[in-house]
Amino acid sequence: MTTMRALVFAGIGQPMLEERPRPQILAATDAVVKMVKGTICGTDLHILKGDVATCAPGRILGHEGTGVVHSVGASVTTFKPGDRVIVSCITSCMSCEFCRKGLASHCVDGGWVLGHTIDGTQAEYVRVPHADGSLHHLISGASEAAQAMCSDVLPTGFECGVLSGRVKPGSSVAIVGGGPIGLGIVLTAQLYSPSSLIMITRDPNRLKIAASLGVTHCITFGPSAAEEVMALTGGRGVDTVIEAAGVPGTFDLCQELVAVGGTIANLGVHGCKVDLHLDKLWHKNITITTSLVDTVSTGMLLKLMNSGKINTDVLITHTFSFAKMLDAYSTFGAAAEHKAIKVIIDF
Ligand SMILES: [Zn+2]
Repeated sequence: MTTMRALVFAGIGQPMLEERPRPQILAATDAVVKMVKGTICGTDLHILKGDVATCAPGRILGHEGTGVVHSVGASVTTFKPGDRVIVSCITSCMSCEFCRKGLASHCVDGGWVLGHTIDGTQAEYVRVPHADGSLHHLISGASEAAQAMCSDVLPTGFECGVLSGRVKPGSSVAIVGGGPIGLGIVLTAQLYSPSSLIMITRDPNRLKIAASLGVTHCITFGPSAAEEVMALTGGRGVDTVIEAAGVPGTFDLCQELVAVGGTIANLGVHGCKVDLHLDKLWHKNITITTSLVDTVSTGMLLKLMNSGKINTDVLITHTFSFAKMLDAYSTFGAAAEHKAIKVIIDF
């Protein structure tokens, strides 16, 4: 049997490099991809903490990255062996009720399965179900590592933050959370020319990066953050506030910041319940959205990367060889200490 190396969720707090059998084509719609560039997501850290009950120990992690198609099933039409591809974090059959409504995140035979309910991309080879709906061809106008940001980071920020948050020309926008997704929102919110774009996060390094990407105001997350935003907005608050952290304190802040008629777009992965202050919000005509990325915007985002209108290079702060995957996890797990945003894995 041909084997490969893979990063496995061996138990709570235990990422392990193991030898595993190489994946085979199991269905006519499958592709097997040889990985070239991988990365680690905050969600992988959640799995390692035991926050994701649906991901069982023994699972190969990872739902992002790029590679070369190694083999395809008989009914795959868009991709052939040798094609260089981006693996989407969302697997889509393109034909079920949800996929037809543009809700591929809830595909009845897919959605977020890679590195979750089936083996993922942090391995030398990965089997991608429904390849025609779940892979994208690489573009020529950006680095391969930068394009790995189109697996999850950029479409999630754009769809769950910018689109769900209804960012409009001239509107005011605040982003609570300066991780890779929060910074992806900074990049894509500017497609709509908001009049103000406020980054609120605790990490001074991330505020600095946000400033370099074009935010109009940087505010340190803490007890005075709401007051500072109110001072900037004449006491009105912001039209769109995007929750990109996923803890009760940040969701509380979003409720303080939203203006009359505004939108709170939640995309943080919440591991516990939060308070909803309806006593303060009931009369403010606001909207609260929740969303999981459908990756319907990936093709459009790749076109913008190809023409240089979006550049994700700045999100990539560290590169590790796959043999050093455990070091990559320690660095990404202590991101503030290492000034890490996204780590790239070279296979
Ligand atoms: Zn589907």
